Amino acid sequence: MTIQWFPGHMAKAKREVQEKLKLIDIVFELLDARIPLSSRNPMIDEILANKPRIVLLNKADMADEAITKQWISFFEEQHLRALAIDSQAGTGVKQIVTAAKEMLKDKFAKMAAKGIKNPRPMRALIVGIPNVGKSTLINRLAGKHIAKTGDKPGVTKAQQWIKVGKEMELLDTPGILWPKFEDEEVGLKLATTGAIKDTILNLQDVAVYALNFLKQHYPERLKERYSLDGIPEDIVKLFDEIGRRRGCLMSGGAIDYDKVAELVLREIRTEKLGRLSFEKPE
Ligand code: GDP
Repeated sequence: MTIQWFPGHMAKAKREVQEKLKLIDIVFELLDARIPLSSRNPMIDEILANKPRIVLLNKADMADEAITKQWISFFEEQHLRALAIDSQAGTGVKQIVTAAKEMLKDKFAKMAAKGIKNPRPMRALIVGIPNVGKSTLINRLAGKHIAKTGDKPGVTKAQQWIKVGKEMELLDTPGILWPKFEDEEVGLKLATTGAIKDTILNLQDVAVYALNFLKQHYPERLKERYSLDGIPEDIVKLFDEIGRRRGCLMSGGAIDYDKVAELVLREIRTEKLGRLSFEKPE
């Protein structure tokens, strides 16, 4: 699934999220734990203004655990509550309601002080870029499969609330925001993790980026996965070695670089090289 983000679409997405903000008490900003900055909307602070917010580092099951911890501290230093979650398996998802309750304690205490005996449930909205796991999390929180996976921009329908236990209601349509894709490295990271379609960027370019990253940050994993004695300095030689070992060859026997690129990216995305984080806090 890919959305073409033209300036008009961005303005509309921003407007739609801001409309929804009027209905809700708290925002769950969903990020990809492997690339928390690259999977973030560049205008998020402006869009959300002062709405209470919890940062959710999703797909934490695929990210480097130690680095995810660093990210949590990073966000907390910026006074943003952050949680690591795995929406697919449900790990950490229960904590979301607890954290939201804690954050909205004062607001609801004030309502109670005004004599409102049965306070309404907290109302929440999930926002994030495409493929970050918004539908998966909605399904998880709802406890049954009601939200369709995949986004359908342009389809309007009445806002519906999904009950999350007794204490929370969630808007059934998440806020879909755009990444900072004009930055080339952001695009390469989004492509490496599979957040954007392979047809958008050149596959070999993405694989070159990913292999260089692994070479620098996870050399042992690279050596082990592809049975390399050492890692060649030259990226073409690295492609050659992986291609030869894994049989990515053209009919004449030459290395098929597209096949190598596909193989490496598929293996990164399916955790064959283990849990990887492609960004660390500065
Ligand atoms: P949306 O476009 O933001 O609604 O994203 P989806 O909910 O459709 O999820 C995109 C892909 O990521 C799907 O293949 C999900 O199964 C997968 N996914 C979502 N959350 C997680 C997670 O926490 N861990 C893992 N491993 N995969 C996830």
